[in-house]
Amino acid sequence: MTETASNTLHGSKLQERLSREITGEVFFDAFNRGRYATDASFYQIMPAGVVVPRTVEEALRALAISRDAGRKVTPRGGGTSQCGQTINDGIIIDLSKHLNRLLSLDVENRTCLVESGIVLDDLNRQLKKHGLWFPVDVSTASRATIGGMAGNNSCGGRSLRYGTMRDNTLSMDAALADGTLMHFGEVSRDQPDSDEKASQLFRDMLALGAREADEIADKFPRVQRRVGGYNLDALVPRNVPNNMAHLLVGSEGTLAFTTQVELKLWPVIKNKVLGVCHFGSFYEAMDAAQHLVKLRPIAVELVDRTMIALGRDIAMFRPVIEATVKGDPDALLIVEFAEEDQSDNLHKLKQLSELMGDLGFGWNNPQRKWGGVVDVVEPATQTAIADFRTSGLNVMMSMKQEGKTVSFVEDCAVPLPHLADYTQRLNAIFAKHGTRGTMYAHASEGCLHVRPVLNLKLEKDVKAMRAIAEETFAMVREYKGSHSGEHGDGIVRSEFHETMFGSRIIADFKEVKARFDPGHTLNPGKIVDAPKMDDRSLFRYPPNYRIGELKTVFDWSAYPGAGGGLQGAVEMCNNNGACRKLEGGVMCPSYRTTRNEKDVTRGRANTLRLAISGQLGPDALSSDEMMDTMKLCVSCKACRHECPTGVDMAKMKIEVLAARREKHGLSLRDRLVGFLPHYAPLFSRVAPLANWRNKSKLLRALFERVAGISAKRDLPEWRRDVFAPDSEVFGPTDGHEVVLFADTFNRTYERENLDAALRVLVAGGYRVHIPQPADHGRPLCCGRTFLSAGLVDHARTELDRLVATYLPFAARGVPIVGLEPSCLLTLRDELLSLRSDETAKTISAHALMFEEFLVREAAAGRLSLPLSPIADKAIVHGHCHQKSFGAFKPVEQALRLIPGLNVETIESSCCGMAGAFGYDADTYQASIEMAELSLLPAVRRSDADTLVIADGTSCRHQIKDGTNRTALHVARALAMSLDGTLLRPNPHGEEKQTSAAENPIVPSNL
Ligand SMILES: Cc1cc2nc3c(=O)[nH]c(=O)nc-3n(C[C@H](O)[C@H](O)[C@H](O)COP(=O)(O)OP(=O)(O)OC[C@H]3O[C@@H](n4cnc5c(N)ncnc54)[C@H](O)[C@@H]3O)c2cc1C
Ligand code: SF4
Ligand code: SF4
Repeated sequence: MTETASNTLHGSKLQERLSREITGEVFFDAFNRGRYATDASFYQIMPAGVVVPRTVEEALRALAISRDAGRKVTPRGGGTSQCGQTINDGIIIDLSKHLNRLLSLDVENRTCLVESGIVLDDLNRQLKKHGLWFPVDVSTASRATIGGMAGNNSCGGRSLRYGTMRDNTLSMDAALADGTLMHFGEVSRDQPDSDEKASQLFRDMLALGAREADEIADKFPRVQRRVGGYNLDALVPRNVPNNMAHLLVGSEGTLAFTTQVELKLWPVIKNKVLGVCHFGSFYEAMDAAQHLVKLRPIAVELVDRTMIALGRDIAMFRPVIEATVKGDPDALLIVEFAEEDQSDNLHKLKQLSELMGDLGFGWNNPQRKWGGVVDVVEPATQTAIADFRTSGLNVMMSMKQEGKTVSFVEDCAVPLPHLADYTQRLNAIFAKHGTRGTMYAHASEGCLHVRPVLNLKLEKDVKAMRAIAEETFAMVREYKGSHSGEHGDGIVRSEFHETMFGSRIIADFKEVKARFDPGHTLNPGKIVDAPKMDDRSLFRYPPNYRIGELKTVFDWSAYPGAGGGLQGAVEMCNNNGACRKLEGGVMCPSYRTTRNEKDVTRGRANTLRLAISGQLGPDALSSDEMMDTMKLCVSCKACRHECPTGVDMAKMKIEVLAARREKHGLSLRDRLVGFLPHYAPLFSRVAPLANWRNKSKLLRALFERVAGISAKRDLPEWRRDVFAPDSEVFGPTDGHEVVLFADTFNRTYERENLDAALRVLVAGGYRVHIPQPADHGRPLCCGRTFLSAGLVDHARTELDRLVATYLPFAARGVPIVGLEPSCLLTLRDELLSLRSDETAKTISAHALMFEEFLVREAAAGRLSLPLSPIADKAIVHGHCHQKSFGAFKPVEQALRLIPGLNVETIESSCCGMAGAFGYDADTYQASIEMAELSLLPAVRRSDADTLVIADGTSCRHQIKDGTNRTALHVARALAMSLDGTLLRPNPHGEEKQTSAAENPIVPSNL
């Protein structure tokens, strides 16, 4: 893990040269290297340096410079490999940031040419409009790159029809370690007798193929899912025309450095149906797979009893399970048919039922084995089943204990007739070693994903892993199966090639490697000459892995380890890379803007892990580099919700800020942000003076220099008429009670929203309480601004005041309703991490967003509002925290209470404003870029008559700044609908803001 002095010296010269000759990023510091030391395996190898080239030429220059300096070179895409093939101790060249273009597309012949760093989903988005797709649909499609997929010979869930990466790669351009750029494609066996390097190489490879043809036929398993070793079978005379690219596919960056790939494309699937086959025993399901594939489905996916049970426990999956799962099956096989014509699919479904009958299955017939088929024809239910399968896996991966599901025998493939025996014996092996595993995925290929639960920090579990691997691979060999059926070799599998293929084939592999890369520059130690898979010095958690004393501000006790559990929470990141997705959901807005590993949840989690375990030097947690790592995290909390293992970076960032404050004190900017609730009442009183900053160029510049607040931003306008009701209770005395939480932002800057909410609640017949603070002091606050400045003790004080005031209400079951998502949802989140007492839990359990409350009341038949139409259409931007806490759907539902309103959700990530983030001079630009990803263009596209809805104060501010459109809180739209009136845009496109004094939404007679 630590470098030698000579390495460092050598490294600095290399760094100098690379930095001079490469315009892309060159990293040699520990923080950045650390972020490239892991992939999705359990290994960690610290690289000497990292290069992120801007062009292919730069990538090849980096290769040449590193090679000349005697360094190993490892190309990298998304870094999602599970076997350790994407890490090494030389120079890592990351192609995903800049080399990611679709270079050309031939629609007629269904081919395209791409740069190797393009992400699969991104490619398919571009192909969709042409009715085409690239069908190697790996589960990691949102972040896996074509270069990495080719490197691993990846396979998708539908490989039964489409085959593996190798089957869909037409040609590749790639450089050898010596820099020779070659085209690898179909070649004739009669290679010209030329001195040209390519001809010589191809001649030698074809000769090797001819020489070893019998051995290859004998030793290579005859299953489609064989991705281990080099594809020597591509070289044999039987497989003409031989395609040299197919030798590179699956070579894991060890033979050549791929610059572009020519792919075979397919028409998009238009119609499909699913047959959910039920089985009373797991064995019967596995045994049936070999028969079901005869109907030529596109996929057969296994879901076992554990996953069904997990799904039933999750509210969002319960409906689809109830609709598609009958009785109490031990296993399901989900059979997918996708013929061009839907009537063919329906016919296949009928055949499937008949086949299950022929296999002896029947519902509730004592003469038959229990089981049968549930047809799923409706697309929405098909999608729900797909979501369930993926998310069920996520739940399995989110175990908080020290033992985790470990990937090392997870993708063995056996011929289908042996699948039932194989899985039965595999379970016995796990049990023998004191563990268990859940099985799921590609039954049609005999390739089930299975991960036993082990704690690789313990020597005994490492020993168990080795024993399980040896016994499993021996069994797979017995069945003439493949020990590497999907994820490749890396460190975890390469060692076993000799056992699986025999020593002669290993000698052939070595010959290939030596012929391509005699100097062992390209990713050495993978496929050939690999270390032992259980070499603990290569583990992410090596024997000397320790976390020192760690003071934390939050309660992390749901997790194991140091810092009251912070260690366990940080270690939840298994590097699967879901946070690198480029579209859909919210996670991770900063990465979507910069595409830097530093700015993604994974990069941050890895940095934290390395920091708290002392691998980044002393005081790393409070260092400048750590602050830089967290700088663009907008605390959107999307990762908390969307990361498969629930990594909650927003909360971890507060730990970093708190550590920083403790070590380095508080800046003026932090004071200004944090203490807003303290000085807001005073500034409101002197509003005209306080607003001077917005009017004066000089003051703007001064604020930027002194406090770091961007001169380009208007600050929210102070006003004297803040929300300060003269009564603590409104509405009918016999109405259902509710507390309205007047947060600092709405109270101070946008009282119209609180007025509107009050009006709506009263109109709905509720008795609305707005209690004065129990300590008779300043107005109440949730502590959000203090949290964002790392002032956790101050935040706790604010929350204590709030809890004391609201407890009498919550204790008798009165809901606490708020308008600002980041404030109200603090009561459901950070409050519980700061106070674990019953009182806090009571408050938290009663905290509801305004829309959640209305929708709940409407569902209970208790809400009746006399609403009138106000507009034809509304577009809605969801606040990130609403999405993270499942509180966004009610926003759409509440808006739909307005008659005739067509509600459309903007597919947006974070608005980029995120509290103070958008105001800071050094993050202003990133803030704008985040907003420009989708939110602002969507608002600009909408008609002037369309309502723009956003519940977040910051979101509304960003929309106003970026588009000059006024976005409304849902409460205001509903209040207007009570009157049937709407603010109309003036001729300049600006909506007229009604001041509360001018046009009070709260009637004086309340
Ligand atoms: C949760 C999860 C689910 C997964 N599901 C699947 C699945 O369904 N099917 C499947 O096949 N795999 C799966 N994988 C494994 C992995 O995601 C895939 O193999 C993926 O295709 C790797 O792409 P990548 O861009 O992350 O490659 P990387 O990990 O970055 O690289 C993979 C290999 O290719 C080499 N490489 C990368 N770029 C180049 C280049 N330009 N030239 C030469 N070599 C290069 C690297 O050195 C490395 O050896 C899964 C992984 C996880 C964590
Ligand atoms: S942070 Fe979550 S989504 Fe990102 S790599 Fe880690 S586990 Fe995966
Ligand atoms: S909180 Fe948001 S910005 Fe920060 S790491 Fe998580 S997803 Fe990314």
